[in-house]
Amino acid sequence: MSYTGPEFDPPRPRRSPLRRPAVVAVAALVPGALAGWLAYGAVGGSGDDGGTGRAAAADGGSASAAPSGPATPRTGTPEDDDAKAGTSAPLKGRVIVIDPGHNPANFRHTADINRKVDIGTGWKECDTTGTSTNDGYTEAAFTLDVAHRLRALLEEQGATVKLTHDADRSYGPCIDERARIGNAAHADAVVSVHADGSGAGNRGFHVILPGTVHKGAADTRPVVGPSKALGESIAADFARATGTSPSNYVGDGTGLVTREDLGGLNLSTVPKVFIECGNMRDAKDAALLTSGAWRQKAAQGISDGIVGFLRG
Ligand code: ZN
Repeated sequence: MSYTGPEFDPPRPRRSPLRRPAVVAVAALVPGALAGWLAYGAVGGSGDDGGTGRAAAADGGSASAAPSGPATPRTGTPEDDDAKAGTSAPLKGRVIVIDPGHNPANFRHTADINRKVDIGTGWKECDTTGTSTNDGYTEAAFTLDVAHRLRALLEEQGATVKLTHDADRSYGPCIDERARIGNAAHADAVVSVHADGSGAGNRGFHVILPGTVHKGAADTRPVVGPSKALGESIAADFARATGTSPSNYVGDGTGLVTREDLGGLNLSTVPKVFIECGNMRDAKDAALLTSGAWRQKAAQGISDGIVGFLRG
């Protein structure tokens, strides 16, 4: 059964396309009502975003989460379950954590999300607002929608699925907590879902793999290998399911990028990757990212990649 969530509502009139450097420069000069929005703009994309993002527009307005996917119908008698484990429920007994990047309410909690947390290799902001399309569809709304679709697909495969948040908290979680949630769940795989905020003309998806770090609380050495296998599997299936190409601006056409600066990866003790599903600031990519039908394909690709990784 496929999850069918709401389509993106037609955007409200767009704001002037302030870009982040200009926002930062102007923020100190403009008091009053605009200050909150400008502060919001200034915090986006500088932390554990994974991407090259600019901040979201304040009128993203998509703070409400999509409804949960439908319950998975069970068929057959209980005695069938074991026999079906290798067929209709290949992920039975497997735990998968989905980490929807950012939180739709982060922009109302700038002091909280700017608080630095220890990522082993250094200190980094708790969380960021994420980016948005030029028409104001926020990355945080996008990541939650894909997460819901992905959860439904994985549960159909028999997996136990946990989300790091479901827009059910005022901000965050912080990036260190996002990692700890996957660790505490002893997840077989964790996927952090994002969309990038790069320049127009930069297109395509990329999967971010943890680099080898061993400092403080960070020790990725045991998970670098399996995370790479997970990421390669997701990249291949994401390309096939969505029909989109790997990034034309990072990763040299492979759709794979290795980073050592993301707390959500550095602190993970289980296989984990990020995926930047596309570039929200490119009009052609944005047309895909705002399509419910395309997001379903994206979720299918990520799900297929996880299944392929876990089934070896
Ligand atoms: Zn992000």
